[in-house]
Amino acid sequence: MHYAASSAIDHLDRQRKPLVMRSAALIAGFCLLLLGLHFWSLMVSRQEQLDETATSTANMARALASQAERSLKVGDLILGEMVERIEQGKPEADAEQHLHARLAAIVKAAPEIQELFLYGADGLRIATSLPVKLPGSNADREFFRYHQTHADRSLHIGKPIRSRSTGILTIPLSRRIDRADGSFGGVAMASLRLSFFGNFYDSFNVGKTGTIILAIDDGTLLYRRPFNPAMVGSDVGNTVVFQMYRKDGPVGSGLRVARLDGIERMYSYRHLEGFPLLVAIARSRDEILADWWTVVFKMSGVVLFAVALLAWGGVRMVRQIRVREALETELRLARASLEGHNVSLQALADTDGLTGLANRRRFETTLAREHERARRNGMPCSLILTDVDFFKKYNDRYGHVAGDDCLRRVAAAIGSGTRRPTDLAARYGGEEFAVILPDTDLEGARAVAENMRAAVAALHVLHADSPCGHVSISLGVVTVHPAVEGGDPLEWVEAADTLLYRAKAAGRNCAAACDGRTLLAA
Ligand code: GH3
Ligand code: MG
Ligand code: MG
Repeated sequence: MHYAASSAIDHLDRQRKPLVMRSAALIAGFCLLLLGLHFWSLMVSRQEQLDETATSTANMARALASQAERSLKVGDLILGEMVERIEQGKPEADAEQHLHARLAAIVKAAPEIQELFLYGADGLRIATSLPVKLPGSNADREFFRYHQTHADRSLHIGKPIRSRSTGILTIPLSRRIDRADGSFGGVAMASLRLSFFGNFYDSFNVGKTGTIILAIDDGTLLYRRPFNPAMVGSDVGNTVVFQMYRKDGPVGSGLRVARLDGIERMYSYRHLEGFPLLVAIARSRDEILADWWTVVFKMSGVVLFAVALLAWGGVRMVRQIRVREALETELRLARASLEGHNVSLQALADTDGLTGLANRRRFETTLAREHERARRNGMPCSLILTDVDFFKKYNDRYGHVAGDDCLRRVAAAIGSGTRRPTDLAARYGGEEFAVILPDTDLEGARAVAENMRAAVAALHVLHADSPCGHVSISLGVVTVHPAVEGGDPLEWVEAADTLLYRAKAAGRNCAAACDGRTLLAA
């Protein structure tokens, strides 16, 4: 019984173990989910930040390009006008004076233009917008030599130069002047102020490590922010922006690492429409993501705190579950052991101490139960009441201890006479025994009684004061039908007792049997 109880507890324990595991897994899952969601949302906001910056830098590039286009168009129109005037104009006495006044008026009206010059085929200045005419030839300038050797009449954007007249860095825009016969007649030149671009570029917020560049298609740098005069005119044709331009076409954006400083930047560039120039704007990735990193640190702090709280709560919960389980296991073990003890106590309380058969108490409760059962299911039930013959004499001759031993042997013989698990042999009192045989008719009960009588006789326990010479028993056997006759268990015992005395009267060592109905009728 105890073994069965503990194996049931083991089974329960095996069922309970997953609760701890599941709780721990659930909490770990929640923590991972929280961290995963946090990571995912950070990655999404990072990408959003980069996308937003790509859009804004692309917009800036568009604004820069259109500003440069406007300035170049202005320069181009002015030069076109100047070339046409020279090529078609008739020389007049005050022509030089008139031209100077005209050029000075144009420069005053166009803020992006620093100076206007007209050069003859020899490189000497014919007219300028400057108040004083400077001596010397400009035949050595790159733009002059270009027009000298190229019949092309379109706008030429030259490498940045420092003005010989003012010392200011400018971008020379020039057109060729043809003589009537088509030969080289000189150059019209407008110098664009670099600072005009610089002032405009400075109005854009590109952060500390951001850059803006304006360069000619051949890679010549015209302007760069942050401004460094030494870099003006240098070759930037191999930089990341030009690589992107050559690969992706006139407009583009993307994250790239600059070879010069190793900084990763978001680049947006745009090629000017109608002019061989490229503008680009770049913002460092670290600066773009600076605000994002602040959010990362703050949110991660909150999330890690939440995860730590969850984990701490989880560990405590799992511990509590373990403690509860241990207590419950102890409780179950205690209950199982108590039940085991109760069963033993019950068995002791129901057993006769001398013979080991059921005692009078158990006999009476079983009799009442079997009587009720027989009444309900309509089956017969038999009762045998038996008494040791001349036992007083046995005691007297052989002593009380031998008497007890004899009773034990007789009880064993009677007990062995019961066959079915529902049969019950009990010590009724003194040297009297009772046997309940449920669902047994008179014939069956008579056979059982005879077996018991024979079993006791077969013990051959010497009894010198008995006529048969050995210990014997007399039996009263009654079969009742409670469903038909009604009655109660007490009447049943009285009937068996009556029959037992009949057997005694008949000479002992025999059984008297009778149907309950016949007995009632008598
Ligand atoms: P009968 O054949 O008419 O039954 O005669 P009997 O002597 O057996 O009848 P009686 O009832 O006069 O005697 C029963 C005796 O059984 C009395 C008592 O001393 C003895 N006895 C009862 N219980 C025990 C017991 O537990 N141990 C022993 N040794 N003797 C017992
Ligand atoms: Mg007796
Ligand atoms: Mg007796």
